[in-house]
Amino acid sequence: MNFKKRLAFSNAAIIVIPVVVTFVASFLLIFILDRFINVDISYERFKRFSQVQYELFKTDGSILSNAPDKLLEKEFQEYLAARLENIDADIIVLKNHRRVFETKQMSLIDIEKILEKSASIPLSNMVNIDGNRYIVRVININFTDVEKGNIILLAYAGSDWFTVDKFLLMVVIIFIISFLLTNVVLILGFSRSILKPLGKLQEASGKISGGNLDFEVIEDGDDEIRDLCTSFEKMRLKLVESNYRQKKYDDSRKMLLSNISHDLKTPITSIKGYVEGILDGVANTPVKVEKYLKTVYSKSNHVDNMIDDLLLYSKLDLNQVPFNFEKTDVVRYFEDCINEIETELERVNIEIELHNQLVHSFYVMIDRDRLRRVVINILDNSKKYMDKNRGKIDIFLRETNSSIIIEIRDNGTGIAPKDLPHIFDRFYRADSSRTSLKGSGLGLAISKQIIEGHGGEIWAISQKNECTSVMISIRKLEKLI
Ligand code: ADP
Repeated sequence: MNFKKRLAFSNAAIIVIPVVVTFVASFLLIFILDRFINVDISYERFKRFSQVQYELFKTDGSILSNAPDKLLEKEFQEYLAARLENIDADIIVLKNHRRVFETKQMSLIDIEKILEKSASIPLSNMVNIDGNRYIVRVININFTDVEKGNIILLAYAGSDWFTVDKFLLMVVIIFIISFLLTNVVLILGFSRSILKPLGKLQEASGKISGGNLDFEVIEDGDDEIRDLCTSFEKMRLKLVESNYRQKKYDDSRKMLLSNISHDLKTPITSIKGYVEGILDGVANTPVKVEKYLKTVYSKSNHVDNMIDDLLLYSKLDLNQVPFNFEKTDVVRYFEDCINEIETELERVNIEIELHNQLVHSFYVMIDRDRLRRVVINILDNSKKYMDKNRGKIDIFLRETNSSIIIEIRDNGTGIAPKDLPHIFDRFYRADSSRTSLKGSGLGLAISKQIIEGHGGEIWAISQKNECTSVMISIRKLEKLI
């Protein structure tokens, strides 16, 4: 149930339920009293009650409209007595507290009691006499001889201990009790569906602010509260995720520092060793000195390249390198790349070939320099990890509906399946590459950042000892006719 419906239902229920309960309980009460206790509180009795009241009123009116002295006339007295007899009622006429006419014998004390009650409580018309109840009406009159008179009209209303006012009182009590019970039930309902879940949310927010995220917010209560619980749970999961990411980030920062220190320390230690060798005179011939210096130079270059890679990587990581995208003919671009590097590869006995499998050439939006950096990184790896006498690199250009797929395949050492998922991670180097060959472990990580900067994807497939293919996908722009 939603909050609005519950509120509307509660508002209606708070009136309807007590009224219905009161009605049902009243009828049940009447039924029980009538059937089992033999108290006549039925409709017939109510009817008679109102009839008597009405007749008394009419009789009263007819007396007032005539001269009060008429009451002393026997003929009028008989007329009144006959009328009242019809409804089982009686009349007592008093003149100066003396009875001048009566259809019912009543002691003077009871008569005085009636007069006193009607004087003190003008609206009350019920009098108890000897355990019997009478509907009474007292009319004060002045006779023409100035003597004061009173007319008492009375009708027997039963001798029941269970009177209408008692019945009405019970009805009121039943209404109040059912009203209170309805309230209690509704409040309990509100508490179960709104207050309790809100309390749980409050508890949950306390836990979160105390840094405890290891719990679950269970949906409970009305629709709106359930939605609130869901949002709360989503927020908790987001916080868990962000904590996890933060931890991963911290771990990777620590790892980065340790990798940098390690990878820089190795060549620097060896530079130090060679320089010491020269200083200590271990390199005691000019040829040896030259060899040592060449090694120092090459190691310094390696450190220099590593630092360059590291700077570029961290700039790309911080999005500090703006990309300069240009509309480029993709086939032309790769032909140029191959022309540039072909001779260098031929020198190390590696043949390179472009296989254009596109039906049409396409324009792509690329940063030419950065993409060249990617191509060179990949071709460098093919060169570094080439173990065949006749190396072969094939570049395939293919297309899907929306992208150009570039595959750079070599027939080098290949990559072990356990290493394959990690080669694009920064500083990751397969164990086999770690010892023997130069490299920063950043080449493919940089390539990945550059390709992702183009909105593309990069991945690799490989077969150990046979071949490695690095695949790049870049969105097509438009066909070149
Ligand atoms: P590195 O500077 O070590 O070459 P990269 O990020 O360029 O760093 O490559 C990460 C690792 O992936 C390399 O250390 C190597 O083990 C593996 N690798 C990348 N390309 C090739 C390839 N063409 N053939 C075999 N192994 C490769």
